[in-house]
Amino acid sequence: MDLSEQVSESFVELFGGKPSVIARAPGRVNLIGEHTDYNDGFVLPMAIDRAIWIAARPRADGLVHVHSIDFDSHDTFSLEDLKRGHGWSEYLKGVAYVLKLDGHRLSGWEGVMLGDVPRGSGLSSSAALELASARIFASISGLEWNAAYMARVGQRAENEWVGVNCGIMDQMASAACRQGHALFLDCRSLEMEHVPLPGHVAVVVMDTSTRRGLVDSAYNERRSQCEQAARFFGVKALRDVSWAEFEKRKSGLDEVVMRRARHIITENQRVLDAVQAMRSNDLAGLGNLLKAGHVSLRDDLEVTNEALNQIVEAAQMQSSCYGARMTGGGFGGCAVALVAAGQIQTFTDEVQKAYRQSSGLEPQIYVCKADAGANVVYNSDNMGSYRRITVQP
Ligand code: ADP
Ligand code: MG
Repeated sequence: MDLSEQVSESFVELFGGKPSVIARAPGRVNLIGEHTDYNDGFVLPMAIDRAIWIAARPRADGLVHVHSIDFDSHDTFSLEDLKRGHGWSEYLKGVAYVLKLDGHRLSGWEGVMLGDVPRGSGLSSSAALELASARIFASISGLEWNAAYMARVGQRAENEWVGVNCGIMDQMASAACRQGHALFLDCRSLEMEHVPLPGHVAVVVMDTSTRRGLVDSAYNERRSQCEQAARFFGVKALRDVSWAEFEKRKSGLDEVVMRRARHIITENQRVLDAVQAMRSNDLAGLGNLLKAGHVSLRDDLEVTNEALNQIVEAAQMQSSCYGARMTGGGFGGCAVALVAAGQIQTFTDEVQKAYRQSSGLEPQIYVCKADAGANVVYNSDNMGSYRRITVQP
């Protein structure tokens, strides 16, 4: 039984009667472009075939009542009187809060939710949850769906309600990706382009089983070092500094700040080059960009940990691997590898073995397909029967 059927059946069990809408929104993995978002730069994420699913139907009393299968708990809140609390329902309240701030009139609903995006491992289950609930709110309340706007709603929910200072990448990937494509996103203009993934390659996410812990301060420090470098060059963000300009003036920078800036400037270029490599089906070239990206994150930005370095090394030892790098904010979490499609099983077994040996930890490995962004999967018509619809972003 797939998750769509599961969520639908659970709905029937819990509420009696069928849901009127089922929506899903995926997690994401960033192929390249790390820490570039807050420097107005470029990123290249793709939505993965792991998602949060919600089955729902309207309620007339302005309440939202949701049961989470994964947490085996439920919560009810009033749209008229949103109050901060703790736990998974904060993401739903956050979305409602932002939509209301923007003047949308929301209707209540009851629903069931479940997902298979690993939580807290950097595949952005939180963005998936935000966009799945945005899909449900939009469908139940008759709001128009605009992927970029809803991504912004999700980001603001996370920033302004949940209190996590994230950029726009995760929500944009979860909202707007296309099946079989990565999303080339300009974080300044929010212009985007869907770039087809080359054939015969698998995207493999490798979770080190280490977590980032309390690294807000390290993240904020990177941000302020980048801002300091941008001020030095007299630009709004490091995105505006060319390599030639950097080379000419870098000696005026503090050594650490110089390396932080160098990561951002070279990483932006790597994203542009990666898009080019994908367009020309150049897997070796794409892999090399991932490798170079990891070295830069390790040595210049210094956001890897031992486990990330070990798992990337284990991946790159395999002849089937075109390239690998840490992905996400760093200091723990996941790495991503591009692997020859026919050799996934051997790759997975060998990386597991090598990583266990070097780190003593058990990795989680997810072979991912590039999936579509948030969509409504089923909508009931007036007769109460299902009609499969494909609403792409
Ligand atoms: P991630 O890196 O996965 O985004 P976060 O800490 O930002 O990690 O978000 C994880 C939180 O999102 C969980 O603690 C939970 O509150 C919520 N969440 C994620 N997946 C689910 C799910 N399947 N059901 C309910 N809540 C979920
Ligand atoms: Mg998150």
